[in-house]
Amino acid sequence: MAHDLPKAYDPTAIEDHWAEYWVREKLFAQPTPPEDERPDGQSSFTILLPPPNVTGRLHMGHMLNQTEMDILTRWHRMRGDRALWLPGTDHAGIATQMMVERQLTSEGTSRQKLGREAFVKRVWEWRCHYGGAILDQMKRLGASVDWDREYFTMDERLSVAVREAFVRLYEQGLIYRGAYIVNWCPRCQTAISDLEVVYDEHKGHLWEIRYPVHDDAGRETGEFLTIATTRPETMLGDVAVAIHPDDERYTHLHGKKLRLPLLNREIPIILDDWVSREFGTGAVKVTPAHDPNDFALGERHHLPSINVMDDTAHINENGGPYAGLDRYVARKKIVEDLTEQGLLAGIKDHTHNVGHCDRCKTVVEPRLSTQWFIKIQPLADKAIAAVKPDAQGNKAIRFVPEMYEKTYLNWMENIHDWCISRQLWWGHRIPAWHCAACHKITVARQDPSQCAHCGSDQITQETDVLDTWFSSGLLPVSVFGWPNIQGAGAPGLASETWEGSRADFDTFYPTSLLVTGFDILFFWVARMIMLGCWFSKDVKMSDGSDRPLSESVPFREVYIHALVRDANREKMSKTKGNVIDPIEIVKQYGTDAVRFTLASMASPGTDIAFNVARTEGYRAFANKIWNATRFIFMNVDKAAEVGIAVDSSSLGNMPSAGHDAPLEARWIVSELQATAAAVNQALADYRFDEAANTIYQFFWGSFCDWYLEIVKLRLDFADASKQPAARASLATLVQVFEASLRLLSPFMPFLTEEVWHAVYDGQPPAKSIALTRYPQPAPSGIDADASASMALLQSLIVEVRALRKESGVEEKAAVPIELRADATLRRLAEQNRDIIERLARVSDVRFVDAISAGLSKHHTAAFDVAVVYERTIDVVAERDRLTKDIAKYEKGLASAERQLGNESFLQKAPPTVVDGLKKQANETRNLLEKAREALSHLPPQ
Ligand SMILES: [Zn+2]
Ligand SMILES: [Zn+2]
Repeated sequence: MAHDLPKAYDPTAIEDHWAEYWVREKLFAQPTPPEDERPDGQSSFTILLPPPNVTGRLHMGHMLNQTEMDILTRWHRMRGDRALWLPGTDHAGIATQMMVERQLTSEGTSRQKLGREAFVKRVWEWRCHYGGAILDQMKRLGASVDWDREYFTMDERLSVAVREAFVRLYEQGLIYRGAYIVNWCPRCQTAISDLEVVYDEHKGHLWEIRYPVHDDAGRETGEFLTIATTRPETMLGDVAVAIHPDDERYTHLHGKKLRLPLLNREIPIILDDWVSREFGTGAVKVTPAHDPNDFALGERHHLPSINVMDDTAHINENGGPYAGLDRYVARKKIVEDLTEQGLLAGIKDHTHNVGHCDRCKTVVEPRLSTQWFIKIQPLADKAIAAVKPDAQGNKAIRFVPEMYEKTYLNWMENIHDWCISRQLWWGHRIPAWHCAACHKITVARQDPSQCAHCGSDQITQETDVLDTWFSSGLLPVSVFGWPNIQGAGAPGLASETWEGSRADFDTFYPTSLLVTGFDILFFWVARMIMLGCWFSKDVKMSDGSDRPLSESVPFREVYIHALVRDANREKMSKTKGNVIDPIEIVKQYGTDAVRFTLASMASPGTDIAFNVARTEGYRAFANKIWNATRFIFMNVDKAAEVGIAVDSSSLGNMPSAGHDAPLEARWIVSELQATAAAVNQALADYRFDEAANTIYQFFWGSFCDWYLEIVKLRLDFADASKQPAARASLATLVQVFEASLRLLSPFMPFLTEEVWHAVYDGQPPAKSIALTRYPQPAPSGIDADASASMALLQSLIVEVRALRKESGVEEKAAVPIELRADATLRRLAEQNRDIIERLARVSDVRFVDAISAGLSKHHTAAFDVAVVYERTIDVVAERDRLTKDIAKYEKGLASAERQLGNESFLQKAPPTVVDGLKKQANETRNLLEKAREALSHLPPQ
């Protein structure tokens, strides 16, 4: 075997090498299975990477998400599934456009100066040079994705799907164009979705404005109706004032009109029971073009809408003397003018929520504009049915943790039509053409040269692009070839794009799992379910039957991962300055240690408090494995010198041990079985934490601390009489070690890859440990007898070690013990005397019926044990030592108790730290008592 591992574990050297190797060798490529080889019965595990923005950089949330996906994909691959993890990036309309616009600004130019075509070209250039850096980061981190299938949402192939989806929905009457109040960002100059608006509490004002009442002849009666508003500038667009029909204060005003101050327009008083009598004055100005509630009011009462602002939130020509002013300048001027005219009744402080653009933080302006919408029914009903249990209680899509099912359904049941247009230049341009002659719209799969209604060639394409989530919502179908597949019913598609194959779709759709964050549950998850169910239902099953809902869904399970917080459980944020950059931590400790940290804390529904101290701990774990490897290789080499070789064909399976094998061999094989069973189950339950901790305890505790120490006794290759036993022990050692590496591989892919190749002396049976089989336990592999015996032996050794410490036995000295034991333990101890002697440094095991008087003993249910040790002591020195020890223990205990009495510490510290501290305090208390007792027993001076 090639055992020239460097002395020290250096993750950087190992990881760069293997990361490059995995990509170069295309180890994780999952090509389309040939048509004539399907169905071959192999089950598929398919998972889509939530496409990061092409402008993105890897953060801790990605790292957690990708670690979970990679562990699951590697695990499934090693279990023999056809595992496909499919990567790509999103063109991210607003984010990317903003990025390039910022560049243009620094060059003293702008998007408008460049013009649309040149600007879009410029964005593509940007994308070629800088886009997708996040995927390079993924490559370095060893994500086992199929890079041959990498997509970009603006790729031609995916753009065809976007166009087909739009046209088909339009033809089905599910897309319409309409005036609607949208959240308008005056900086980005586009509509943004409700989900892209963040609300901050704002200390503003409530301005009370008096509107003069008119009599039937249009003359002012001298009476006023007072309204209250937080945005006085919108009064320029007022078309009415509404009051509650039962509000007795205003009964005499029913049917009357008002003069709109400043613009002197006459507007009606309308009655609507939506108006709250309790709020403000009970009279509400109605501005349909600038408020969603007012818009609904306006629709009910057939009122006109007057838009008073342009795209940059400056007052437009409808604002009379205020035209051209910025919205806030206009507000100031309007308040001044109202004051001057005696129409301002009051200004009150008022704290309310103000919406900001999530991208650029500009205050959003609710504004009427013409947009494209998807009629949400019947898409939403299908998407609800996909998640609700059917008559048999089965769910086509299962959410983990289950609570998100309710969140999803609640949102889906209250969903509004989906505004899909954005006033951007970067994105999929809407395939609709406006006719200057007949003013009708032509929507087409191929760019038309004339109006479909009147034949005029005076047509121009819609300038809006589609919401980014429209294309990412289609990914589960589009990445597998839809609509260019047989049976997708895509009339009119160009024949050259018709691939005719549907092998990918049949093999990989529905995908198995989606791992994603809560923040895009509605943005993305819900839309994939709506669009996936809608479009895939027309694709017949491979046997020609209709596709049931359970096969139309885009994925069968959705795992919503937790948030990564800082060590104090605070949310990471740039303003707080507590953001941990995963790449920095990886540089310091290695990818494997960071992955293991995340995995060891990840379980459904629990946020992760990322603590670098833990990563340090797992780096030490990696070191421990490295050192164990070197120890094993040293022995393999020693064995080779006397002609003993480990048969590499015996590796790669679940090891077994015969009944006549030594106890430690039977025990470690049984432990491995139990560990494999627990880890497989934990991964099936998304309990990454349990899986990681189980492996950790097995490797560090059972394998390194116990088994390796015991097996040292057997590896005596110099003595010919002991060689057969040594050979057998060495074989078990290497077999168990090799299987443990496979068990650990999905969690620490780099370290295990390096060591695994070395185990096989550079001639491994596969190109990668990732392509071998994951250890699967056999129920018969658990050896209960070996487990019980070893547990007893371990408890004896632990007690002896404790006794040695208490009695002050020097570290290296071997001493006799007295053991009172029943017949079983006695036989066990006799058979394994060498183990006790070595691990507890015992020179002789004396079996007794009762421990000799004068010896301090430890008592357990199974045995009494005492260390036979008489120290010749220097009373003065001993008194001195004990006095010092007592002082030290007292100090330590006081400090621990102080911390444990500190409420704020207890609230902030992770439970493991508190537990550790408690344990430590107990131990110190014990030692203190013992030292005090020993001191009291010293002969007087
Ligand atoms: Zn914005
Ligand atoms: Zn026309």
